Amino acid sequence: MAADPSAPCADAPPHRLRPHTRRQPWILTYHSVTDVRDDPYGITVTPERLGEQLSWLRSRGLRGVGVSELMRAHAAGRRGLVGLTFDDGYADFLHQALPVLHVHGCTATVFVLPGRPGGVNEWDPLGPRKPLLTHEEIRRIAAEGMEVGSHGLLHQDLTTLTDEELRHETRHSREVIGELTGTVPEGFCYPYGALDRRVSAAVGSAGYGYGCALVPGPLLSRFALPRTHISQADRGVRLWAKDLRHGLRHGAVPGAGARTVTPVWAGGSR
Ligand SMILES: [Zn+2]
Repeated sequence: MAADPSAPCADAPPHRLRPHTRRQPWILTYHSVTDVRDDPYGITVTPERLGEQLSWLRSRGLRGVGVSELMRAHAAGRRGLVGLTFDDGYADFLHQALPVLHVHGCTATVFVLPGRPGGVNEWDPLGPRKPLLTHEEIRRIAAEGMEVGSHGLLHQDLTTLTDEELRHETRHSREVIGELTGTVPEGFCYPYGALDRRVSAAVGSAGYGYGCALVPGPLLSRFALPRTHISQADRGVRLWAKDLRHGLRHGAVPGAGARTVTPVWAGGSR
C-alpha cells in the first residue's frame, strides 16, 4: 500500500500552526458600512476602511467570499479564502459595501431580516436609526452574486421564544428569502449571537446547512460557527492579532497530526 502523502512526518511538530491551512476557516463579521460618526455600538466601518481591510486580506493571500462558498472550498481542501458576513441587512450594503467588494473581487453573505423590509434597526435602543434592505433590494444583492442568508424575521433573541415562534422565525424567513431570490438560503445567523442547543437544533431542522454565531463556546459546530467582529479601528496590526487569535482558538488539534482539523461543518456534531 502506497504511503499516504498527506501523512505527517514522524518528526513533525504535532501542533505547529500554519495559518489558513490547518484550522477552521476565518469568518469576519460586519454590520453597517457608512459614515461612522454616530456609532455607539461600534458596528460601522466606512467604505474606505472596508477597502483597506480587504486589501490587507489580499496582501495575505486571502480573498473574501460568502460562507457557503468558503465551506465548499474548505471541504475540498482549497485554501486562501476568508468568509465575509454582513449582519442585519442594512440598506447601506447595496450602495456602500457592494461596490468595494466588487473592486476587490470579493463576495459575501448578507444576513437579512425579511420580516422588516424597508424598516429600521428598532432593536438598538440607542440608535442611530439605519434603513434596512427592502425585498426588492434583497433581490438585487442576490442578483449581484452575493449569498443571502437569514437573520430571522424580526431580529429577536431566539433563546427567549416559544417553540412555535422559533419555528416561525427560522422556517418562514427561509421561505420568504427563497421566494425573493429564487435560492433557498443555506445560512442562518443568530441575532445578538444568542443561541442554545434548542435554537441551533431548530435552525438545523428548518433545513439550513450552517449557522453563524459569534463566540459559540461548547456549542461549536456547523450550526454555531465562530466569527470575528471587525470594527473601524481594525487595521494592519489589529487585524493580524485577530487572525492570530482565531488561529489559536480554532487551530490544530494537539497531537493529531497534519490535516486533522475536521471542519465543523463537515459532519461535526450540532
Ligand atoms: Zn443582528
